[in-house]
Amino acid sequence: MVEVVVKITRRNHNAFVHLLAALESQGYDLADVLVTKDLEEIIRAKPKVVLYSFYSQEVDEVKREMEILKSRVNAIFVAGGYHAMAMPKHTLRVLGFDVVVIGEGEEALYNLLFELKKNNYKLGKSLTSVKGLAFYLGDDFIFTGFAKVEDFWRFPPYPEGLKLISPMEISRGCPFGCYYCQTPYAKGFRMRHRPIDQIVKYSRRMKDMRYITPNAFAYGSPGAILKLEKLEALLKALQPLRREGRRLFYGTFPSEVRPEFVTRETVELLVEYTDTRRLAIGAQSGDDAMLKAMHRLHKVEHVVNAVELALEYGLEPVVDFIVGLPGESEESQRKSIELMEWIMKKGGKVRAHYFMPLPGTPWARCRPSPLSEEMKKFLGRMAAEGKIEGSWGVQIQISRRLQKLIDEFYEEPFTYHGIIREVC
Ligand code: SF4
Repeated sequence: MVEVVVKITRRNHNAFVHLLAALESQGYDLADVLVTKDLEEIIRAKPKVVLYSFYSQEVDEVKREMEILKSRVNAIFVAGGYHAMAMPKHTLRVLGFDVVVIGEGEEALYNLLFELKKNNYKLGKSLTSVKGLAFYLGDDFIFTGFAKVEDFWRFPPYPEGLKLISPMEISRGCPFGCYYCQTPYAKGFRMRHRPIDQIVKYSRRMKDMRYITPNAFAYGSPGAILKLEKLEALLKALQPLRREGRRLFYGTFPSEVRPEFVTRETVELLVEYTDTRRLAIGAQSGDDAMLKAMHRLHKVEHVVNAVELALEYGLEPVVDFIVGLPGESEESQRKSIELMEWIMKKGGKVRAHYFMPLPGTPWARCRPSPLSEEMKKFLGRMAAEGKIEGSWGVQIQISRRLQKLIDEFYEEPFTYHGIIREVC
């Protein structure tokens, strides 16, 4: 009998693969779990618990689904992920969930499911003993504390009882604290890493070996510095798997690298030990003043150096930019255009994103700056010629929806390390 349904999506797939592995390794029987994207299948399964995980950009769709499911399924609806964590009251009261998991979910979700089963799937006071939850008891909002999982590698990345595979999370947390980014506030400012032997063991399951990390070149370090010997040890240890026919992609989709970590040494490791052809580099702006304002803690010269090094070694640099940043002047935008043009002329690719205020970040309540005529023309021309990647057009609409959501329902988030600074 199905007790728990996981509502899987393209966006939450990787997170749920890892979470299901963590549940299983703590003793949860995955035979009771149905993983599906199909609402009708959820309704037919009559589960006791339905699990969701989503981003703030998805709340309209989640709300529509919840209206359908809540009218037809008598279950406890549990939400995790970045939106639920940053806006639990909105998730509970407006979207209609019963419980929100706040923090890193491996243990919190296991303890929640254990407690619910013990109490015959009734919400009650006993849940106050489970760390990492928010819910309402009557009119009282209960928050049981932020769930931290420092040593996330205690849990394997893939479950045995379900045939699920994804890129593997090898590092978690980020010390940089860029003001638009949710990662450090949800996962902590100290970077932690899955050990090499475990990465090798589970990489066997992937055909193409790909990894999830906030900054692939920071493997083995607390995050802000390069530990070349650790990075090299990891890539070397994966060579037997390459020789068995698997391809190794590193520093590219679905992860990226910070520009100041792109050095001759790191690029040489990529060329020697991996099949990477495209190096994903986060630049975000072509203006040093803007990089400082968004707390990127690197400069334009690092981006230029990273692009030149990648090209010198035959890698295609794919460089991310955000346009419409809070406080971004026409002059700042011109500097970004100049850098983007330079990258494309050299043979690199550019991915342009529009600024989206994300709940749980210091810039959650900041407004995007209007795009200059020059920027609009430039992006339009480049998109028409197929020279620029990225979803900046769609993101303008999403950004407006997020601003409205935050205006209406802003909550002080329960962050990893205390209060998020207000910067605009
Ligand atoms: S954008 Fe990247 S470097 Fe900045 S805080 Fe987020 S994960 Fe860290």
